[in-house]
Amino acid sequence: MANVKFENISKVFDNKKIAVDNISFEINDKEFVVLVGPSGCGKSTTLRMIAGLEESTSGKIYIDGKCVNDIEPKDRDIAMVFQNYALYPHMTVFENMAFGLKIRKMDKVKIKETVQNAAEILDLEELLERKPKQLSGGQRQRVAVGRALVRDPKVFLFDEPLSNLDAKLRVQMRTEISKLHKKLEATIVYVTHDQTEAMTMGDRIVVMKDGVIHQIDTPLNMYNHPANLFVAGFIGSPSMNFMTGTITIGSGLQFIPKGVSAKISLPEKYAKLLDSYTGKEVILGVRPEDIVDAGEKESDLEVMVDVVEPMGNEIFIYYQVDDKQMISRLHPSCNVKPLEKIGLKLDRENLHFFDLTTQYRLA
Ligand code: ATP
Repeated sequence: MANVKFENISKVFDNKKIAVDNISFEINDKEFVVLVGPSGCGKSTTLRMIAGLEESTSGKIYIDGKCVNDIEPKDRDIAMVFQNYALYPHMTVFENMAFGLKIRKMDKVKIKETVQNAAEILDLEELLERKPKQLSGGQRQRVAVGRALVRDPKVFLFDEPLSNLDAKLRVQMRTEISKLHKKLEATIVYVTHDQTEAMTMGDRIVVMKDGVIHQIDTPLNMYNHPANLFVAGFIGSPSMNFMTGTITIGSGLQFIPKGVSAKISLPEKYAKLLDSYTGKEVILGVRPEDIVDAGEKESDLEVMVDVVEPMGNEIFIYYQVDDKQMISRLHPSCNVKPLEKIGLKLDRENLHFFDLTTQYRLA
């Protein structure tokens, strides 16, 4: 296995579109790194540049310490699993998995042994004689992974491999790929637009937007300490709520939300953070699980509930603050109905403040 390093990589397409804008980062040996971001953010282009399927306009890419800019895709010792599986329909599962090895002139006995091995790992032994059309979506996806696996590459690249599967199968394949990573101790670079996949699978996540990296971190750090407003809104489902408001210190440190009559007292621990923002507007971010039913306690916000969504183990309520839609996750025992008023309380331990202009987290 190997590490992968990006050094000031940019990709500008012929139409002058800057798909990737001067990114630098390193993926460690045996690490599972997920590139995530909205459609068009440049994540697939980044992956394709590792594979050599796309040439970078500037900068250098290293695999295992060696600059691969001028190395052909086939000689980069990587294996890629595509969204559409790209299986050969006229070949059996065995032949699909063996194909790359045959081309590399591996001897027949060794090919059989390698494919058997991979089939065992991926639970495909019973399916080796079938053609792709005789397989379910999940099984086809496993064959596509198997075809990468037999190559024993330095780096595995996955490009949205689960997006053609239904929701249940996606969850199952997610855990299978995570287990496979642990078993193989492989270096994996995985592209998805799905933040849940990123959160659950990655050792680290790279969040991209408009060709730029916004944050590289572990899933938990990213959830708890998003670097800016974009990452805060992108990571986590349902998304973080945002309120604009003013910081005051008249009667203790307070956040006064815009457009509603409320004063949210803030503990001293935020004093230093908000020191230079007194009298100024900031954005307060609060995750849906951190604005909950105040119950008997004094509430921070009184809101009118627009929609109630019972999820079984919790309920989501939707409401407006200053014309912005907000969402709270409440205990299922909370018996609130649409068009009713409810008092909500913010968890003071988990407040996120952002600069209104730069949109960076105040830290
Ligand atoms: P998606 O999730 O929709 O696949 P992505 O984040 O993977 O999006 P890329 O496919 O990397 O995004 O594309 C990044 C940007 O570059 C997009 O604006 C896209 O339209 C543009 N782009 C991609 N390939 C080309 C190309 N061959 N020629 C011109 N522009 C391209």
